[in-house]
Amino acid sequence: MSARVLDGKALAARVRAEVAAQVTALAARGVVPGLAVVLVGDDPASQIYVRNKGKAAVDAGIRAVDHHYPASVTQAELLDLVVRLNADPSIHGILVQLPLPAHVDALAVQDAVAPTKDVDGFHPENLGLLAQGRPRYISATPRGCMRLLRESGARLAGAHAVVVGRSNIVGKPMAMLLTNESATVELCHSRTADLAGEVARADVVVAAVGKAGLVRGAWIKPGAVVIDVGINRGADGKLHGDVDYAAAAERAAAITPVPGGVGPMTIACLLENTLESAKRFVT
Ligand code: NDP
Repeated sequence: MSARVLDGKALAARVRAEVAAQVTALAARGVVPGLAVVLVGDDPASQIYVRNKGKAAVDAGIRAVDHHYPASVTQAELLDLVVRLNADPSIHGILVQLPLPAHVDALAVQDAVAPTKDVDGFHPENLGLLAQGRPRYISATPRGCMRLLRESGARLAGAHAVVVGRSNIVGKPMAMLLTNESATVELCHSRTADLAGEVARADVVVAAVGKAGLVRGAWIKPGAVVIDVGINRGADGKLHGDVDYAAAAERAAAITPVPGGVGPMTIACLLENTLESAKRFVT
């Protein structure tokens, strides 16, 4: 079997065009969605992510406002910025790029973001709403994964889904979203006793670990749908996912590539969240 490739780049382009059209309609009513992007320090990967998000926002007609601080910024200064952004009526979404420097309590900063402007979906209130099956903001990456799953045509109700990785920003919300779609979900992590055995039973696999090739192709159940969230820079300088792509594609029904799968969808879904926030503020 050779898997259908789930083209995240093409799907993201469609989502971004739809967002741009709706932003234009909103602007005609006098509201331009505003996204504040907070970046701390000089981490090259974070700088690239922030630049890509900012450019995508501007391309969609969203006003992106950058707040770049040196790594020496204090927690009090960051919290003060967040308080000001929370109160700024021209800002509808606040994104704090992670990681933050070790001397800053990242959770405290995330908690300070107004839940109504938390377009990253990291605030405990938004995670709680998602857990209750009545989401307000869904973190962009899990939201993008769900769109890709819908695109794959995979039947989620009753499916056995295995999520590898239990971070608050990807693995856990992903498990909640799949549960809300009536999949039977297993959430695996570094202490899982038999990862190969768990993955081998999965109709849907979502890998979000950060270890290139951790999920072997031979583990994939024939006909499964595989979503690879991992982004790993190889010794060859190229990006690789968490899944052994070539071997997994021989067995899966559908699979996302890295790059060009989940990554572009994350950005597109962040724009969707920002647009939805602006709409909520005007209605
Ligand atoms: P974290 O480091 O926060 O979490 C990694 C998870 O993987 C942890 O739950 C950890 O388990 C688990 N893990 C580690 N080793 C193993 C193992 N050997 N077997 C099973 N599970 C293991 O990562 P993130 O969730 O933030 O990101 C995961 C990956 O996704 C990264 O490559 C990141 O770059 C990428 N990413 C991509 C995005 C995109 O847009 N495409 C967006 C966000 C992230 P434990 O909890 O036990 O430590």
